[in-house]
Amino acid sequence: MIKPTNLYIDGTWQEAISKEVRTIYNPFDNQPLATVAEGDRKDAQKAISSARSAFESGDWRYTTAAERGRLVYLLGDLIEKNKEKLAELETLNTGKTLAESLWDMEDIAGIFRYYGGLADKNEGESIASPNPNSQSLLVKEPIGVVGMICPWNYPLLQAAWKIAPALAAGCTMIIKPSEFTPLTTLLWTSLAEEVGFPKGVINTVLGPGHSIGAELAESMEVDMISFTGGIVTGKKIMEAAAGNVKKVALELGGKNPHILFEDGDWETAIDFILNGVFFHAGQICSAGTRVMVASSIHDKVVEHLKQRISNIRLGNGMENDTQMGPLISQTQLDKVSNHVQKAIKEGAKLVVGGKRPTEESLKNGFFYEPTLLTDCTADMAIVKEEVFGPVVHVEKFETEEEAIKKANDTIYGLSAGFWSQDQQRVSRVSKALRFGTVWVNDFNVYFVQAPWGGYKQSGQGRELGHAGLEEFQEVKHIYQNFKPSPLNWFGN
Ligand code: NAD
Repeated sequence: MIKPTNLYIDGTWQEAISKEVRTIYNPFDNQPLATVAEGDRKDAQKAISSARSAFESGDWRYTTAAERGRLVYLLGDLIEKNKEKLAELETLNTGKTLAESLWDMEDIAGIFRYYGGLADKNEGESIASPNPNSQSLLVKEPIGVVGMICPWNYPLLQAAWKIAPALAAGCTMIIKPSEFTPLTTLLWTSLAEEVGFPKGVINTVLGPGHSIGAELAESMEVDMISFTGGIVTGKKIMEAAAGNVKKVALELGGKNPHILFEDGDWETAIDFILNGVFFHAGQICSAGTRVMVASSIHDKVVEHLKQRISNIRLGNGMENDTQMGPLISQTQLDKVSNHVQKAIKEGAKLVVGGKRPTEESLKNGFFYEPTLLTDCTADMAIVKEEVFGPVVHVEKFETEEEAIKKANDTIYGLSAGFWSQDQQRVSRVSKALRFGTVWVNDFNVYFVQAPWGGYKQSGQGRELGHAGLEEFQEVKHIYQNFKPSPLNWFGN
């Protein structure tokens, strides 16, 4: 029996006002997992006023930073203690392998500990003012009530990137997980309840983006929206947020190039290409689906990729030998399939995959075979658009300049990686790539100390690291004049 399943508002678990519910499915076999409350705008309004009152009361923001940090850190410990249970739920709800979900949970525990530790090490400063008889202080204060809107691919991990720094900063919050994957956020909420944050500091609401999410984005009582999800939704949120000019932090999609120069260790790189694309069936914002290979090594790289991709084992994420699970839904499956069909029509060559698997055991799940396309050129949609599925395409290039130009020719700017053993090239290329993260001789490495975020339309703001805490803070300048004397500008 999966529990909890209700909304958590103002310190109590409650049904949706409308009493509506939603069934949550396992994408591995499309079987129901749980029935959860389905909130709407009214529930969101209730949660917003709870978070507003908790912020105004000062119980959380005026408690010491050390005490806030202690509770956030404790939550990290509790997540660690419950990591198996959380990981199982994440796998059941998203289809990703249990090993991936366990990494996520360990990562999440570390995120809470990092921000718990950072909470009281975030000093303000004194600055030089032009008046010698004055003092100028910069103090950091919590931004206020934060609405958090999360995606389905990393339900609790993406939530943790927001929750841990926001709480450490002294904000109060309303979180809305994806309507498809609320289960770990609910279990996390019950752990937070156990830790004992003041009433109203944490509110968890469930329901669709167009009602609950839109209410959070539009509300005059919310000071900031922290959103992770698709670019189209991100733009809608920016518009909705304009009503009270609330701060908007956006972590959006990516079309992330993974470049193999002729002097790179291409055999090792192949392994990283596979990890970069097929982890969580490619449903990762930083998936390195755009592989660019120097023409001199192109054919052998494609041949090796083909062999390795054909051997990837699809299955139930709960089973040990599964390497790749399903997509999240039929909609996502159709989207991925359409992308591949379109690419083939536009002239791409299908090397492997390109269809649903035929095994009986996979037939009810939203599986798509790991897919490799070659002969792709810059004008094709597959090169420009985020697929968010297990599809990698290969493009050729002749020179370093061409590789950089092609890699940067995208509306996105989340992450990029490249392989080279020439230190001068490493220096040139890593500076020239216009992406929030650049990996050299590696791919898809994240850690809580390093800020994460996108250039261009991949988003705005940064999560993780010190920058991730500062997102949830205002900087106030307090100027005190110790020896005021009249200016007599308007006479005396
Ligand atoms: P999505 O945009 O469809 O949904 C994300 C969230 O927004 C959900 O909770 C949804 O209910 C809500 N939402 C939908 N419409 C809304 C509206 N009008 N107003 C307010 N909220 C609304 O995204 P998704 O399909 O859940 O996630 C996949 C996307 O997320 C991909 O594009 C991926 O690249 C991106 N992503 C980015 C990062 C990053 O770090 N940059 C990380 C993970 C995922």
